[in-house]
Order: sequence, then C-alpha cells, then structure tokens
Amino acid sequence: MAQPRIYVLSRPSFENSELQRFLQDRELAWVESSGASEGEHLVEVCGRICYMSFSDDTSKMRYPNDVYIENLVKKGHESVLEHANWTFILDGISRAFTHQLVRHRIGFSFSQLSQQYHDESKANVVPPEGLQSEVKELWEASTSETIKAYRRIVELTDANKAIDLETKRRLRSEARSLLPNAVETVIAVTANARSIRHFLNLRGSLIGDIEMRQVSVAIYHMVTGDARALFSDFEIVDHSDGYPLVSHRRES
Ligand SMILES: Cc1cc2nc3c(=O)[nH]c(=O)nc-3n(C[C@H](O)[C@H](O)[C@H](O)COP(=O)(O)OP(=O)(O)OC[C@H]3O[C@@H](n4cnc5c(N)ncnc54)[C@H](O)[C@@H]3O)c2cc1C
Repeated sequence: MAQPRIYVLSRPSFENSELQRFLQDRELAWVESSGASEGEHLVEVCGRICYMSFSDDTSKMRYPNDVYIENLVKKGHESVLEHANWTFILDGISRAFTHQLVRHRIGFSFSQLSQQYHDESKANVVPPEGLQSEVKELWEASTSETIKAYRRIVELTDANKAIDLETKRRLRSEARSLLPNAVETVIAVTANARSIRHFLNLRGSLIGDIEMRQVSVAIYHMVTGDARALFSDFEIVDHSDGYPLVSHRRES
C-alpha cells in the first residue's frame, strides 16, 4: 500500500561568516543564541535587520532566539518567516491530494509528474485509508478496470511510431482523462515557513481527510526537526482513529 513519503532536498541555511562581515562593516555585533538552528538564526537575523537591533550587550539584545521568534508570530510580523524555505519531494500520494495541495498559491512552488509525458500504465493507485471490505472490493475492481482501459489506449497510441509529439500529447491526454483521482503521483514542493504554517493551520487537523493529515504530520516533522521555534505553536495530537493530526495551539 502506498504511504506518503517525504524526501527533503534542501533546508534553511545560514552563512554566519557573511553576517559577521556585515556587522563588522556596520560596527555592530550579535550574540548568537546557543542551540538555535540555522533556520532559526536566519529568521532572527532578518527580523533584527528591521530595527537594526544588533548588539554585543546581552541586556540590549533582550530576547533569546526562541522568544524573539515567538514575539514575531504574536505581533503578526510573520513576513520575516518567509526567509526560511524547504524543498521536498512528496511521493506515494494521490492526485486527489495534490489537487488540494496546489490550491495553496502563496509561498509555494510546485513541479509535478506530467500525465501527458509520463506513461502511467504502471501507475499505482492510493487507496483511501480504512476502506471497509465491501467498498474496498468495489474500489479495487473499479480502479483496476480504469487503469486497464488506460493501458489499452496507450498501447494503441504507442503502436503508431510515426506520430509527432503533439499528436502523441493529444492521445496521451485522451488516455489520462480516464485516470482516477486515486492515481499515485509525485510532486516537488518549495515552501517557506509562513506558507507552511498557513497550510498546517488549514489542513493539519481535517479529521475526515486522512491523507492530508498524514502529509501534514510528515511536513510538521520535517520543519520542526530543522527549526522548531518557527512552529512552536503547533503540536501533534493523537486521534481515536489512529491517525494523528497537527493542531495549532491558539492563545486563550
Ligand atoms: C476544509 C476546506 C474545504 C475546502 N473546500 C473547497 C471547495 O469545496 N472548493 C474549492 O474550490 N476549494 C476548497 N478549499 C480550498 C480553499 O478555498 C483554498 O483554496 C485553499 O485552502 C488554499 O488556501 P488559501 O487561499 O488561504 O491559500 P493561499 O492561496 O496560499 O493564500 C494564502 C493567503 O493569501 C491571501 N490571498 C491569496 N490569494 C489572494 C487573493 N487573490 N486575494 C486576496 N487574498 C489572497 C489570503 O489571505 C490567503 O489565505 C477548501 C479548503 C479547506 C481547508
């Protein structure tokens, strides 16, 4: 059975030597919070640029990294969080899921497997978690028939080697129109911390959408492993169906 899988291609990074060069030119200094990650330093430093609040006097620096970032979020100064970016591949997910994912327009970039260029004859399907046995039978028979019909159309198309690329694209488009929402796909995603926060807020705790929850949990683990302070107001919460959710702790 396909399960959402995440592969992290790039994480927020921070060039401390370049910051030191800048601070030296400006005759400033900065006290680095111990234990903060590169992504957390990056966001703090970008925030401090706004008020040029750099100093080697710890009493003037006032806040350590985690409190500084918490304050940015509390004050709604979240554009600073856009400096931290991740690029990752999601695999083992359905087209139904990615259709929802790509609705997130701001701070997300996508590159998805093409159904016009890629032959989907061997495509997997992603069964919704927890299908009851009667429904499962019907679901499996139906998706299997559909993929079979797709395969047959592609065979008929590919038998004619003389066709040009655009004709092939048209025929592949006809074939792909049969493919179900459940067909497995792969997508590369780049997103910043602010847009991921928005995504987790909207999507992380949708009880009725298990695949969305599974991906939200995978994304949560990726981002908190790298920069916990940017997501300190989110947490994983167990649910009675066995699939945890990502919950946003709101101020009471
Ligand atoms: C429970 C649920 C049910 C849904 N059901 C449906 C459905 O039935 N049909 C459907 O079509 N979609 C549905 N959606 C998708 C939803 O409408 C959004 O398209 C999706 O969640 C992306 O959210 P967003 O627009 O806030 O994100 P983004 O596109 O990433 O935008 C982020 C934020 O930027 C601002 N913004 C972005 N674009 C504009 C703009 N043009 N003008 C002004 N402000 C802007 C908004 O503040 C927005 O919240 C559903 C989503 C959820 C969570």
